[in-house]
Amino acid sequence: MKILISADMEGATGVTWPADVLPGHAQWERCRPMFTSDVNAAISGFFDGGADEVLVNEAHWTMRNLLLERLDDRAQMLTGRHKSLSMVEGVQRGDVDGVAFLGYHAAAGAEGVLAHTYLANTITGVWLNGTRASEGLLNAHVVAEYGVPVVLVTGDDKACEDAAGYAPEARTVAVKDHVSRYAAVCRTPARTAADIRAAAEAAAALAIRHEPVRAGGPFTVELEFDAEHLVGAAAVVPGVEPAGERRVRYTSETMYEGIRCFKAVTTLVSSAVEEQYG
Ligand SMILES: [Zn+2]
Repeated sequence: MKILISADMEGATGVTWPADVLPGHAQWERCRPMFTSDVNAAISGFFDGGADEVLVNEAHWTMRNLLLERLDDRAQMLTGRHKSLSMVEGVQRGDVDGVAFLGYHAAAGAEGVLAHTYLANTITGVWLNGTRASEGLLNAHVVAEYGVPVVLVTGDDKACEDAAGYAPEARTVAVKDHVSRYAAVCRTPARTAADIRAAAEAAAALAIRHEPVRAGGPFTVELEFDAEHLVGAAAVVPGVEPAGERRVRYTSETMYEGIRCFKAVTTLVSSAVEEQYG
């Protein structure tokens, strides 16, 4: 049994504000061991539950946050950015039986610690076929096309509520309880590690790959930005159309195409934001 762990950082133990997750900040350095501890707890639990292979895919920012030198020796880590499936890179290899979303968070425009969808402030909302979409929801649709279930989700309590919508069978662990976008009641790394390890062990039983499903579409994705000029930047991508003052929309037959178009839009939009007056 092979497990793919997609490891984001905003939903990690102890993390509640931007400097905790922005590379180069002293607080980010302080939070890296707690993030690594969450991932190690999941690795241990999955091996206890019968996994014989775990691949960890870094999914946050520069995708260089986890401490490889402290990682459980039984796992391997895919580190670095520019990967065709981004946060769920590796699932397309066809040998993954279950996916875990660690350190995930609520969607842009929703309540949750450091809530956002891909771009921290520039994207104010994303909808998939009319439903507000978190990174978890989008990526759950991507892995479903490869027949792979989401078996474990960790983050704040709002991320766990979100997971109930897109992966109702998955085990969840709330490592902290949301108070505001930048505040949470946190549990210690020792306690969250115990909770994550137990949940991962139980979640291993859910890791059963099915035949790939390519029939879920079409998928209509709508994005809302915090500035009007970004509509023009996004609409450079073929198939992406203006859908309101600060909105664009596109439709893809598969989520594989849908998430790649999403990546093209976010890359273009990011390059159209200046440091001030973005
Ligand atoms: Zn994220």
